[in-house]
Amino acid sequence: MIILDGKKTSNDIKSELSVLVDELMKKGKRPPHLAAVLVGNDGASLTYVGSKVRSCEKIGYLSTLIHLPETTSEDELLQQINSLNTDKEVDGFIVQLPLPKHIDEEKVLMAVDPHKDVDGFHPTNFGKMALDMESFVPATPYGIVELLDRYRIDISGKHAVVIGRSNIVGRPMSILLSRKSSPGNATVTLTHSRTKNLKAITKEADIVVSALGVPNFLTQDMIKQGAIIIDVGITRVPDDSKPKGYVITGDVNYENVKEKASYITPVPGGVGPMTIAMLLQNTYHAYSRYADL
Ligand code: NAD
Repeated sequence: MIILDGKKTSNDIKSELSVLVDELMKKGKRPPHLAAVLVGNDGASLTYVGSKVRSCEKIGYLSTLIHLPETTSEDELLQQINSLNTDKEVDGFIVQLPLPKHIDEEKVLMAVDPHKDVDGFHPTNFGKMALDMESFVPATPYGIVELLDRYRIDISGKHAVVIGRSNIVGRPMSILLSRKSSPGNATVTLTHSRTKNLKAITKEADIVVSALGVPNFLTQDMIKQGAIIIDVGITRVPDDSKPKGYVITGDVNYENVKEKASYITPVPGGVGPMTIAMLLQNTYHAYSRYADL
């Protein structure tokens, strides 16, 4: 069994990007600039946004965190998005999800300029991705195909089973794996909470991508010998013995599954760091599109 080391791979990608930033600086250009909008004080969101900002700083990007109170109205948030859309010094930005319940998430995502939509959540980018056109690709599934690619795992013709059909992970994952490109060309089954007899389906899979958010859901009796296992799940499971009071747990029962798998991503240190690396990669693309390189 080989561990797909997302932490190391993401550090490689960040090093490559930081070399590109150094070259820009030598040419007297400004570095790429990523902004993040966070509404409210959700603990996990604060952690995610914090690490995105820190990663920007480490590789020499500019970063701006716009932290708005929980009581921010939808109109105020839309105004903020509009000002980021028109700010020539900002190449790309993200609106950290979930948003407070009084704000219509769809309306907000639709307001982001697709050219600055480095999360790839706007329908324009999502549609282009589905049509094999150049676009911003959502960072988590993008990170997964990049990780498979960097470990030289050929997925062409393999049967991939994706568990979960969310707009940010499962559904785009199924599209990327099945695209007529490399990496791609897999035969994909997209499963979800209404899927009947999931175990019979996952047992047939060469690749399982688990993105449902149920800790330790995938066990060894659900996979075939030598399967490639990608664990997207991140759940905070309460644990009083830990300083933070919780442990981050994936969807895959790692200890139970690892010996039967050929490749497996750990949690933490697998898909999570890759997501941040691909967000930085998308920001570089956004920058390159407009900056006079
Ligand atoms: P979501 O709640 O939006 O979607 C979950 C999906 O799982 C749904 O489509 C649902 O139908 C499906 N599902 C639920 N129970 C199921 C079951 N018993 N059998 C089959 N399918 C079932 O979640 P999401 O936003 O896609 O996130 C999924 C997990 O991935 C969460 O733990 C989240 O924290 C994590 N996540 C990680 C990263 C990362 O960078 N590593 C990024 C995004 C999300």
